[in-house]
Amino acid sequence: MSPPVTLDVAVVGSGPNGLAAAVVLARAGLSVEVYEASAEPGGGARSKRLFDSDVVHDICSAVHPMAAASPFLRQFDLDLCYPEIPYAHPIDEKTTGIAYADLDRTCARLGTDGAKWRRFMAPLIEHSDEITEVLLGDLRRPPRPRTAAYIATRALAATVNSFRSKEAAALIAGVEAHALGKLPSLIGGGIAVLLCHLAHTTGWPIPRGGSQRISDALVADIEAHGGRVRTNARVADVRELAHARAVLLDLAPKGVLDLAGPLLPQQYRRALEKVRYGPAAAKVDFLVSEAIPWREKELARAGTVHIGGTRAEVHAAENAVAAGKRARDPFVLLSQPMAADPSRGLPGKQPIWAYAHVPHGDPLDPTAAIIRRIERFAPGFRDTILASRAIPASEFEAYNANYVGGDIAAAAVTMRQVLGRPVLRWDPYRTPLRGVYLCSAATPPGPGVHGMAGQHAAERVLRNEFGYRPGRTRPVS
Ligand SMILES: Cc1cc2nc3c(=O)[nH]c(=O)nc-3n(C[C@H](O)[C@H](O)[C@H](O)COP(=O)(O)OP(=O)(O)OC[C@H]3O[C@@H](n4cnc5c(N)ncnc54)[C@H](O)[C@@H]3O)c2cc1C
Repeated sequence: MSPPVTLDVAVVGSGPNGLAAAVVLARAGLSVEVYEASAEPGGGARSKRLFDSDVVHDICSAVHPMAAASPFLRQFDLDLCYPEIPYAHPIDEKTTGIAYADLDRTCARLGTDGAKWRRFMAPLIEHSDEITEVLLGDLRRPPRPRTAAYIATRALAATVNSFRSKEAAALIAGVEAHALGKLPSLIGGGIAVLLCHLAHTTGWPIPRGGSQRISDALVADIEAHGGRVRTNARVADVRELAHARAVLLDLAPKGVLDLAGPLLPQQYRRALEKVRYGPAAAKVDFLVSEAIPWREKELARAGTVHIGGTRAEVHAAENAVAAGKRARDPFVLLSQPMAADPSRGLPGKQPIWAYAHVPHGDPLDPTAAIIRRIERFAPGFRDTILASRAIPASEFEAYNANYVGGDIAAAAVTMRQVLGRPVLRWDPYRTPLRGVYLCSAATPPGPGVHGMAGQHAAERVLRNEFGYRPGRTRPVS
């Protein structure tokens, strides 16, 4: 016999999407509880003091262009710090691509490609709100079909690369590589369209005090509206939540199968089993004694540095990893939070965040490879390291069950799995189980700290399970 229903909504997982869903539902007046397996809420937006020091390190996400642009997170008064240079890309000993927040400065440094960069970015900047609405929406039914078509043409242009300079080509390639898959690809181009232009609009900020502050703001909002976040509360079976009228799963497809597999209709279960996971991230947190001794001094002002060499080298490394092979020179994303938020360091102690793209499930400790990549552009970096901690790809899943084999996107970001994320269905958030919904990065719009999957899923729950209609704040029944 089912237990009596005593709760409106249970959310499994307190990543940015689970918390966003809980915010929307608690604000609507429903009773909401979030169940989180870990000791701290936040999923991919958690920070921690490491190495017996008071310096705070971001364990997963560190840089937040998606949060700054997200219609959901923009409702919150987040304290975001903006580096003068959102992202930069050293190419060889003499050449570095720099994307300043200021478009004019970026174009000026790109020389003959400056005019082309402006022609590419200016229309995107002008229509930034519409572009963001489409790319952070439910990607299958874009609210603005003309904008969606325009984005597709620009994504294609980004993949073709009409820039002559190494710098402009590498800047785009470094952002394409956020797709964590084969390059060039329309998906990589789409990510470049979004993130490159955001560098010149809402920015690539770093939250003051670390990414945990984003999670803290959402938890505070849930609690202010009567909701509750339970930590150390792993859910092993969705039937444990039979006391809730609706359940939202902030989980990767593998987690959904673990919790509900035997209850799911065969067709849906098989489709979830077929979801492909992508290449992985292998992370290192460094505590260093001083700022990175970049050969190109301008790099000290960059919040994010893409270490990948030329466009061709970035593509080669990404393609090797997508094919399941270790790249000789892996693509590395590095963030130096103090470029945006000097309060993140202490005298003689600074945090550096870096991860390399590696094959799915790779057990190799990435520390040596990442140091070697940084040393090429910052000789002497090795001597500034006070302490470091690595999370190989194969160990990420133990930290967060959603990172299957170290895939930080909760499912590979391929064209097929963008259009059918996680499986091809009219409503990607609703499962065939009564009252059970998905809300993680495995649903549209995909990975990143934006909370939009949570918002979209919660809106469906309000409408389908509680009879809310837009404009009403209370349930119809
Ligand atoms: C190394 C790394 C760097 C990244 N860098 C960035 C970045 O700079 N900027 C950016 O925007 N994004 C970045 N990301 C991606 C971003 O963190 C994720 O896309 C985002 O966190 C996804 O949010 P989510 O809510 O879908 O799931 P998650 O954040 O993955 O949260 C899922 C939560 O569910 C919990 N959980 C899982 N199973 C259970 C269970 N059975 N019971 C209870 N709880 C459970 C987990 O413990 C976790 O807290 C990065 C990710 C990683 C790993």
